[in-house]
Amino acid sequence: MSVPENVAAVRHRIAEAARTAGRQSEEVTLMAVSKTASVKSIREAHAAGVRVFGENRVQEFSGKASQLVDLHDTEWHMIGHLQPNKAGRAAELFTAVDSLDSLRLAGKLNAAAQQFGTRLDLLIEVNVGGEAAKSGVAPDSAELQLVLQSAGEWGHLRFRGLMSVPPFSEDPEATRPYFRRLRELRDQIAARNLPRVEMNVLSMGMSHDFEVAIEEGSTCVRVGTAIFGARDKA
Ligand SMILES: *Cc1c(COP(=O)(O)O)cnc(C)c1O
Repeated sequence: MSVPENVAAVRHRIAEAARTAGRQSEEVTLMAVSKTASVKSIREAHAAGVRVFGENRVQEFSGKASQLVDLHDTEWHMIGHLQPNKAGRAAELFTAVDSLDSLRLAGKLNAAAQQFGTRLDLLIEVNVGGEAAKSGVAPDSAELQLVLQSAGEWGHLRFRGLMSVPPFSEDPEATRPYFRRLRELRDQIAARNLPRVEMNVLSMGMSHDFEVAIEEGSTCVRVGTAIFGARDKA
């Protein structure tokens, strides 16, 4: 299957899942996760109407971004772990960082965005499964509370919601409790009405489980394999 055919198939799946959940498919943004995908494939997805892309490495995207500067109407999101020493480059390259996982990183991103005279949208990445190998703040951590309480001080950042990569399971139903947990956490934070904290976005669901995520309230599904095909496990 070609990239445009895959995009159409994914859009159909999103529409079906939204209908099952009694939601509008327009409430769900399709993010094409283009890590390891070629510039040509990214252009094909863009031609098929995709306007939001996710990349997980600053260096990899840095090489591709210079060949994609003509795609003005496009959002480029950083979705992988970001080392604070790469915050400056990330703030320059990306529209948004969806993987904010520390107070230190937030401070560095704010300083970088200030330097470039821009504003950066952020999602806080939450490690809902408590897995040691995954990044993200723990749902009950002091780090999460510190980030939320400090948000008002960072004039160049806007906290738009939460993102999570739950523990992998072949069975999407097994992931449902983690999606629900993230939504509940979002609702709790939103109810506090903290300055610069909006919490409208819930980024959850990947190629094999995004239907369940949409049923649990996802507003952004991050789809790589189902659009660009299997990645080489190099
Ligand atoms: C790779 C990746 C995805 C996409 O996963 P697929 O299973 O290929 O759809 C989504 N989110 C993050 C954070 C990723 O790193």
